[in-house]
Amino acid sequence: MLLLTCPYCGVTAEETEFHPGGQAHIERKAGTEHSDAEFEEYLFLRNNPKGVHLERWRHQYGCGKWFNVARDTRTLEVYGSYEIEAKEPPQEIKDRIAQRLAETGLPEKTVN
Ligand SMILES: [Zn+2]
Repeated sequence: MLLLTCPYCGVTAEETEFHPGGQAHIERKAGTEHSDAEFEEYLFLRNNPKGVHLERWRHQYGCGKWFNVARDTRTLEVYGSYEIEAKEPPQEIKDRIAQRLAETGLPEKTVN
């Protein structure tokens, strides 16, 4: 069971209070300036790493807002959550990931 914290309302709850939304930080590739292959990649292809994953979650039974979570799919350890508008995790979460990987000796990912 994952324990997630909503960065907007501050509630920490089990994952059943939230709804997963897949990979975070996907660049939208729609419109005439992008090829069909780029649009297909944007629409259908997602990373499914065995390791550190940045993903979107919605506080479904709370404030209803979307946010991002950094967690490890091998250990289910949650490194932290942050606002949906962020382009990447805040430095404190990056530092926490680096520290845990150094402690465990695990690579960031073993499968992408
Ligand atoms: Zn919330």
